[in-house]
Amino acid sequence: ATLPYDENNIFARILRGDLPSKPVYEDEFAFAFHDINPQAPLHILVIPKGAYVSWDDFSARASDAEIAGFIRAVGKVARDQQLVEPGYRLLANIGGHGGQEVPHLHVHIFGGQWLGPMLA
Ligand code: 5GP
Repeated sequence: ATLPYDENNIFARILRGDLPSKPVYEDEFAFAFHDINPQAPLHILVIPKGAYVSWDDFSARASDAEIAGFIRAVGKVARDQQLVEPGYRLLANIGGHGGQEVPHLHVHIFGGQWLGPMLA
């Protein structure tokens, strides 16, 4: 069961500019900023501008343009950060078993070192 979107979740506030962040990239569909508690030398979060709780919600409800725009933005951030040649990791936590803490879809980009087989 997907939760209703909470307009006051922390990433909604960051998107509105009500809370500060360290921006990395922005376009029509996506916003990227540094994670406040980095789990790798480079740890960026990419979020869609639309109000979607999770990857599940986004993939079910977003328009094709939003989905394409968001996925292209994730790739662009990684390229802009010179992550492609050394390699990097994408992660999206969904719901309770996934350990999702913030109910606005976010894709984690981890890089800057060998990440091992999996992050805890
Ligand atoms: P989740 O566990 O939901 O996949 O990841 C949430 C992420 O958001 C965590 O990595 C956490 O450090 C990050 N985070 C939580 N609150 C804030 C905040 O206020 N600003 C930023 N930049 N990151 C946050």
